[in-house]
Amino acid sequence: MIQLYIPLNFFGVIYREIKQNLTDLDKMFTLMDREREVADAPGAEPLLLSSASSPAVRFEAVHFAYESDRPILRGVSFEIPAGKTVAVVGPSGAGKSTLARLLFRFYDIQQGRITIAGQEMRSVTQSSVREALGIVPQDTVLFNDTVAYNIAYGRPGATQQEVEQAARAAHIHDFIASTPKGYDTMVGERGLKLSGGEKQRVAIARTLLKNPPILVFDEATSALDSANERAIQAELRGVARGKTTLVIAHRLSTVVDAHEILVMDAGQIVERGSHSALLAAGGRYAHMWALQQSGDGANV
Ligand code: ADP
Ligand code: MG
Repeated sequence: MIQLYIPLNFFGVIYREIKQNLTDLDKMFTLMDREREVADAPGAEPLLLSSASSPAVRFEAVHFAYESDRPILRGVSFEIPAGKTVAVVGPSGAGKSTLARLLFRFYDIQQGRITIAGQEMRSVTQSSVREALGIVPQDTVLFNDTVAYNIAYGRPGATQQEVEQAARAAHIHDFIASTPKGYDTMVGERGLKLSGGEKQRVAIARTLLKNPPILVFDEATSALDSANERAIQAELRGVARGKTTLVIAHRLSTVVDAHEILVMDAGQIVERGSHSALLAAGGRYAHMWALQQSGDGANV
């Protein structure tokens, strides 16, 4: 797995890697304007969101291909009702992370609709969509800057106290505090190298601080050891309460409470339902669950 830090001199291949890894992106899009693959429609308005509740998200018969001759999503429909959590599970390559990328509008879809609070994604500004979303990606990319900057990136202007609070909730504060320069420690290729798990916790802190109405966790705790994973899962569940949340899960124990669980394979939803309904159905999900209960199937 490629662990990337972002130097200021971008080039295309790095850019694609970054995009693949779903980091925060407005800055990169500004720097890389010519690489933009999707553009705002003429006269696009910002997404209108109610301040009272998180918005519902819908995928309606979505078809998508990165390359025209190889369909990746083949008619995917689901709804995350306002403030609820929907989980996606399935084998590697099924198209799970693609859902997250489309929700962030890295790419436009070929057929179907994606709506947020009833507004079609293609008709609103990208920047307003990205503001409304917080993603904890599978592989976190950090800026060559201080730890504080990397956390506060989620909410420019945040106070040191707010940054620390987010870091505590993400279980990274003690580690940061133990370094000689603390929050002023430079990270990245010219600074302190963080492990995959540490980077993931920085990304979690960033998202906690941003506190957006829609959350996407893409195997967000996969790089953590199991004790840390359990602790942070509990934090993430707290944060997700009342927010519209898409959880791409690698350990099924984290999806048990989801409003709906989608089992994806080869770009389609092959099973869906609550945890108990899927167990009772005795299909793919029940099989995956049995494997993980036996302790060795964490990556199915
Ligand atoms: P998952 O997260 O379920 O493992 P992904 O959504 O990342 O799967 O990928 C689904 C499929 O799309 C895979 O076959 C993958 O190789 C392909 N894919 C992902 N990103 C790209 C890309 N940028 N260009 C072409 N194909 C891609
Ligand atoms: Mg993935």
